[in-house]
Amino acid sequence: MAVSDEDKALAGRLTRISPLVWRLTAPNAGIMTGPGTNTYIVGSKKVAVIDPGPDNPEHHAAIKKMLSDNGLELGWIMPTHTHMDHSPLATTLKNNIGGQLAGMRAPDIITQDQTFVPDINLQHGDTITADDFTLEVIHTPGHASNHLCFLLKEEQLLFTGDHIMEGSTVVIGPPDGNMKAYLASLELLHDYALEQIAPAHGDLLSHPHKVADSIIQHRLKRENKAKAALTQLGSGALDQLVPIAYDDVDPRLYPVAAFSLKAHLDKLVEDGFAGVELITEEAKEVAIWKLVG
Ligand SMILES: [Zn+2]
Repeated sequence: MAVSDEDKALAGRLTRISPLVWRLTAPNAGIMTGPGTNTYIVGSKKVAVIDPGPDNPEHHAAIKKMLSDNGLELGWIMPTHTHMDHSPLATTLKNNIGGQLAGMRAPDIITQDQTFVPDINLQHGDTITADDFTLEVIHTPGHASNHLCFLLKEEQLLFTGDHIMEGSTVVIGPPDGNMKAYLASLELLHDYALEQIAPAHGDLLSHPHKVADSIIQHRLKRENKAKAALTQLGSGALDQLVPIAYDDVDPRLYPVAAFSLKAHLDKLVEDGFAGVELITEEAKEVAIWKLVG
């Protein structure tokens, strides 16, 4: 389904995307955030705000205005995870407008939002129920260990946060990011009846299961290139393996690719295909990967 220009996610734009859901895109467009973080407002009386976004005064004012213009009561504030472009506005909204914070706390990592302290600690399988909607919680670690997707049962619409984005590849950055968990969390979506995906970055996606499958295939292709690089070198450090496993990308992207390759190599170790040892080279510790078996 093609999205018309006036329906595309755009900073500051409010769009009704379904009978129960509005999307308001935050003014934080960028390389990592696409058109900006999508905040979704679910319900027609007491509403849930999914992915409130960064603690930005303009976005705060836009959410407040939208709620009051439509006579909506803020019931729940639900970040999909605690990266800085998703959850920091949650506490500000609660303090200024009301509602309960629902989600999973950030792991103890400096780059994550430690201000998010949930009133309701969500677990896999939990539901948030209002008069006119039910959101089911699906725990989807991979991009972040505390990442949750929310399924709007009435519309079979899945809010995927950063688990699946439109138009770009999700960053899997170890140690909180984990490739093996990410692929398992994509497989998990097959257990649910889904009509559409509402991502935190970009537009709505149709055929959710096909989308999940194509991401899995894409990642496994790269995993095979990582294996081939190990086979070719016998053993190697990350900076030796990157140019081989990513021979199809612009060398300027190697520093970013190294992150992803590390995630793939960690998965190969977890799967028992590779081993890693730390050696000291010029007073620096270097990880050397090799195939095993
Ligand atoms: Zn994220």
